[in-house]
Amino acid sequence: MSAQRVFASPSRYIQGPGSLERLGELIAPLGTIPIVVTDAPVLALLGDRLRGILAAAGLDPLVLTLDGEITYEAVDALARTCDGVPGSLVVGVGGGKALDAAKSVALRLDLPVATVPTIASNDSPTSSAIAMYDDSHALIAVDHLPSNPVLVLVDTSLIAAAPADFLRAGIGDAIAKKFEADGCAVGTGMTPLGTRPLRIATAIGDDCYRALRQHAIQAIADCESGVVTDALEQTVEAVVLLSGLAFENGGLSVAHSLTRGLMRADGARRLPHGYHVAWGALVQLAAEGRADGEIADLMGFLRAIRLPVCSADLGIDAPADRAFAEIAVHTMTAPHLANFPIEVTEPLLIEAAQRVDALAGLGTRSGA
Ligand SMILES: [Zn+2]
Repeated sequence: MSAQRVFASPSRYIQGPGSLERLGELIAPLGTIPIVVTDAPVLALLGDRLRGILAAAGLDPLVLTLDGEITYEAVDALARTCDGVPGSLVVGVGGGKALDAAKSVALRLDLPVATVPTIASNDSPTSSAIAMYDDSHALIAVDHLPSNPVLVLVDTSLIAAAPADFLRAGIGDAIAKKFEADGCAVGTGMTPLGTRPLRIATAIGDDCYRALRQHAIQAIADCESGVVTDALEQTVEAVVLLSGLAFENGGLSVAHSLTRGLMRADGARRLPHGYHVAWGALVQLAAEGRADGEIADLMGFLRAIRLPVCSADLGIDAPADRAFAEIAVHTMTAPHLANFPIEVTEPLLIEAAQRVDALAGLGTRSGA
């Protein structure tokens, strides 16, 4: 049945200032014992408020906190805490790690999951994917839920109150999705669902990109001021919802593959996922042989957001060629490279990274 195509999405997506207040009423129909997975800082910030919201809906939550990395050991320990608890669903509250931990616990307990992101640093809230790490923060696996979250609840007052660097990372993660889905569609690429992309993924990827180009610069300014505005709402929708739908239904490619190398590169290792993907999008455009003007255009936008556009921004010491070679070796292990319409090789990646550096005003190469 290779002709099958699949569309995956959350059952319900709700976004707006103060929407956290609705959590209790929204999950109450599923049962009275939600298993809340969060982390210590978020619990300190929101714990009392969350308990109040859930109690008002007649719910009696079991609250678990993830400390440190999201590893199989950590998630197994959280799931064991639930032995004998007739949980109704798992609710992740927090950043990417807490949400992925909630998804992973839900997978073990065979329960539905709701996600309540308190920052917008990537599209994890929307997707069925779970990024699993080891204790040294190396990505070791991407697990998948059998279905997407039943509820994604995005309180934009929380997003606006969080440091803008999180939103920066989310914009970097989202800006690449159009290019990744486009490459997947014109080639023979497959989505994370294991099927050929549907047309809707291209449409969503395009609109995600348009929304970010139109609103993201203003949204960063608004987030820095801590205010919820239309630009912030448009940007958060692109970062959390559109980006997730675009990759899960449209496929990933070179931009995300490069994160495998960057996670091991000195200097770059410490940067958030979305910062890696932003630079990866530039390298992907260079690897596709796009015109200098097209790459420079995206570079100008990323600079305005203050996302990395060159090796120096990534914290890689000059000369960068040796780092690029190492990044290329690890990038070649990424399964998404098969989604690129042309064959990816280490030299192709290295030359593309050098071309991006040259366009950013670093390096000596004039570019292709
Ligand atoms: Zn990503």
